[in-house]
Amino acid sequence: MRGFTSPLWPIRYKPFPDELLSCWLVRLAHGHGLKVQTFCNLMFGNRRQVWNRDIDRLAPVWLVDELILRTGTSPETAWGTTLCSYEGILYPKFRLSSTLRWILALKVYHRTRQGYGLQFCPACLAEDEIPYFRKRWRIALNTVCGKHGTMLFDRCPHCGAAVAFHRLDMVGMEAIDVAPLSYCHSCQFDLRSASPEKPIVYDAATSLLLLDASHQFRHDRTPESEWDLGRFAVMHQLCRIMTTRVSARSSQVDRF
Ligand SMILES: [Zn+2]
Ligand SMILES: [Zn+2]
Repeated sequence: MRGFTSPLWPIRYKPFPDELLSCWLVRLAHGHGLKVQTFCNLMFGNRRQVWNRDIDRLAPVWLVDELILRTGTSPETAWGTTLCSYEGILYPKFRLSSTLRWILALKVYHRTRQGYGLQFCPACLAEDEIPYFRKRWRIALNTVCGKHGTMLFDRCPHCGAAVAFHRLDMVGMEAIDVAPLSYCHSCQFDLRSASPEKPIVYDAATSLLLLDASHQFRHDRTPESEWDLGRFAVMHQLCRIMTTRVSARSSQVDRF
């Protein structure tokens, strides 16, 4: 902040394990007692727009640099909150334009989200002391929580809205009232109280393959040697062919 002798912000939370950049930024804003938009205008200037894009995917360098400087976080940890960190794991090379293989699209339109690109596990959120959103919940092949064995949700089960925790303080609530981030921005349903859903297994071998793949993205595991980008590229192509032949009856079809 200008005028401070120290570059550090008064509140300098570090990212939680596997936390998304957008979630970290919202927590920092609310930690300062400010609405997200007010915080961003104050800290980055009015001309630097943050929320008109998918910042987890298209993180501007100036934004991450600023967070590194103001919170005293290591560059490695800060960049680790972005989806660029899946380069070479989920897709071969990070590209600014077009889609990234296996990464769910948010379909940002102005500041709203038209896509259901951020999933969540109600049980994981409920177990958090401070509920937060994980990077691995943006991966299309993750459909089941590796920890709880229940389905991930891609929308509020009460009103059907996509997850958009950065909009929580836009609905008349003050930043200080916005805690925790597990509330639906549209109907204020607490996503932690969503009833767990058991996965439907169509084909045991395929389910096992997917579960094994999703285990690679647990934050406490590094990708193992048997993870083969090429093999999953073939699987991705097969999924795409299969799903484009099926009429889009559910959002699941939209994943690829
Ligand atoms: Zn879970
Ligand atoms: Zn809702």
